Amino acid sequence: MRKIAGILLVMATFLFTSCTKAPEKSEEYFFAMDTYMKIEAYGESAANAVSQARACVEELEKLWSATDENSEIYAINHGEPPELSDETLDLLSFTLEMSAKTNGAFDATIYPVLTAWGFTADEHRVPDESELAELLKKVGYEKVLVDGNKILLEQGMMLDFGGAAKGWASDECARIMRENGVKSALINLGGNVYALGKRVDGNLWRIGVADPLSESAENAGIVEVCDRAVVTSGSYQRYFTQNGKTYGHIINPKTGYPADNDLLSVTIVAEEGKLCDVLSTALFVMGREQAERFWRENGGFEMILIAKSGEIFVTAGIAESFSSGKNVHIIN
Ligand code: AMP
Ligand code: MG
Repeated sequence: MRKIAGILLVMATFLFTSCTKAPEKSEEYFFAMDTYMKIEAYGESAANAVSQARACVEELEKLWSATDENSEIYAINHGEPPELSDETLDLLSFTLEMSAKTNGAFDATIYPVLTAWGFTADEHRVPDESELAELLKKVGYEKVLVDGNKILLEQGMMLDFGGAAKGWASDECARIMRENGVKSALINLGGNVYALGKRVDGNLWRIGVADPLSESAENAGIVEVCDRAVVTSGSYQRYFTQNGKTYGHIINPKTGYPADNDLLSVTIVAEEGKLCDVLSTALFVMGREQAERFWRENGGFEMILIAKSGEIFVTAGIAESFSSGKNVHIIN
């Protein structure tokens, strides 16, 4: 009798698994905001949601590209400020608020200095101290005046959403997914990842955290998440070398030089991509000690710091979700 029950159970399991098809996968791989992006989603409405999400990213790029002469940011930076769109007004308020909160480690007006280093046109150079001192007079989020949907910048000041736009866009993609009833998706906008729901097999999403020291693009560890954004910043992502010295694309607004401290990368994990994007850039500028202090004083996010020493520091809230073959210290 037991044997027959066993056979029936096996048959039932077989019938069940052969009748329930795995949810359909839809994905798009494209280039936008100066980076490669991939959006994958599962389920009936996924195809529609993925193409809507891609269109949304492309629309935001049209608004915020600093180099596209038809963008809103270009007009603002070249003395012809239009009436700001709601999207630009929202991102501007958020970046100005975060610039203040990070005490200027993130500064939405860093663009003149970034340009002097040649990062905006890929024509790299090392500016001299006096040039940087002059340009730093044009940097300062606290000098930006917003009146209704108008912005007023001093002559020579410029905005740059390069450290925040992809995170913001990833939140928009997640919203579009949810509005379309998608329960499982992985949105990867050039390393700004948003993991929606769980994988279709019911497991958490596994997001690799790159090892900045690895020449073969290995991961330093894996973080397992659900309904979270995971964003990494580090100078290893974009840099140039001159006379044996390496200069990265994240600028310390206090000095005008590329951030150069005890960190190689900062990964932020939180509910919103926009927060992760801004904080990964800001905390990379701060260095380990200040980044840890910022986390203790503000909370609302978790982080993984990879130090030049090769050590990894992980905040207590995600320590159990992070696996690595390396030496990991927990930040409390
Ligand atoms: P991310 O890759 O998100 O860390 O952002 C780096 C980009 O943000 C750079 O390519 C610049 O466009 C911009 N950026 C660089 N330094 C800063 C800074 N201190 N504050 C705000 N944006 C910055
Ligand atoms: Mg960023």
